[in-house]
Amino acid sequence: MRILIVEDEVALAETLRRGLTEEHYVVDIVTNGRDALDYALAAPYDVIILDIMLPGMDGLTVCRRLREAGFTGHILMLTALGDVDDRVHGLDSGADDYLTKPFAFKELLARLRALSRRVREMQVGPLRVGDLVLDETRHEVRRGNRVIELSPLEFRLLRCLMRHARQVLSRDAILSQVWSFDYAGGSNVVDVYIRYLRHKIETPGEPKLLHTVRGVGYKLAETE
Ligand code: CA
Repeated sequence: MRILIVEDEVALAETLRRGLTEEHYVVDIVTNGRDALDYALAAPYDVIILDIMLPGMDGLTVCRRLREAGFTGHILMLTALGDVDDRVHGLDSGADDYLTKPFAFKELLARLRALSRRVREMQVGPLRVGDLVLDETRHEVRRGNRVIELSPLEFRLLRCLMRHARQVLSRDAILSQVWSFDYAGGSNVVDVYIRYLRHKIETPGEPKLLHTVRGVGYKLAETE
């Protein structure tokens, strides 16, 4: 399992890194929210251990931004002892679990084991439609042998369409599943991103996969 620690208390972060590395986890450390976003979206972390009290962008904002950007790994939040509001806000902003400081290292290990069980349960294998394959855990999309590079938003859009393969999805249904609550524009943004996506997954000569259902919405399916 690959873990990103986001903690500005360097001594604590280093202690965690040492302990987790001994337990055979792959560990990176960042000390602020901006770096956390950059790292988390560049590498496939299974778990992010995220402190709430950070300089600049706080952990709650980082958590929300990560989910908005399509981060699908687990987020374990570190909160101050007894701060119920932080825990509630943490879970509301997309965290999977929390640990109150100070904590025993063996409790952290137990939480990570629990999360890794959930990771395995989620791994039902890559999504497939025809020769198009989306591997969520590796954050990778391929069509046949061709690797397709997608932006985080395009990735989430494709994942949504693939999870509902062979079903027609309305623009509003897509909008509510792919865009964040903060998004205030109209549903024509869906058409724009469908165009981007179609351009990437259907190169000239490849069978059509992304179909427009006139007056209704979109459908991802093999051509019959
Ligand atoms: Ca801190």
